[in-house]
Amino acid sequence: MKFCSQCGSRVELRIPEGDNLPRFVCNACDTIHYENPKIVAGCIPEWENQILLCKRAIEPRRGLWTLPAGFMENKETTAEAALRETLEEAKAQAEIIDLYALFNIPHISQVYLMFRARLLNLDFGPGAESLEVQLFHEHEIPWEDLAFPVIHETLKRYYAERKQQRYTLQIGNIRPTKTYKLTKP
Ligand SMILES: [Zn+2]
Repeated sequence: MKFCSQCGSRVELRIPEGDNLPRFVCNACDTIHYENPKIVAGCIPEWENQILLCKRAIEPRRGLWTLPAGFMENKETTAEAALRETLEEAKAQAEIIDLYALFNIPHISQVYLMFRARLLNLDFGPGAESLEVQLFHEHEIPWEDLAFPVIHETLKRYYAERKQQRYTLQIGNIRPTKTYKLTKP
């Protein structure tokens, strides 16, 4: 951040009095611009024994597969955000079954909330951010071509539980891994 969104003056990075972390502070209007983690909400859209994945049309990780998910907008609920992203990325209508997983990703200051959801029909297709949208059985999941570690972790836990048809809320932390490919080879 270079300029104050309140008054347009230049901001400086410093620790405000009484605080313990550096913040962007405007010395003209005294606004402190706090930056906090972002919430990403998404779905595991189910249809019988299959789930819906999207092949990303945008960077990062263009061409790799992901669950429909994205940043929450202001004034919506987490479930609304998850369903909106499913509609935008997969043009799919779904209904929420339950919250399935919460993952903290502290090194990029994000929190993922993933819901299990039921597809309402088979009328889906790629939205603007997707190249393809497809249903997968478990044995067809492109494990080597998943876009993000958090998606890999979500699906790994989901299929481990699916065998018993008993789902419990998953909570975990995703840490940076050197081995994870940043781009498709
Ligand atoms: Zn200002």
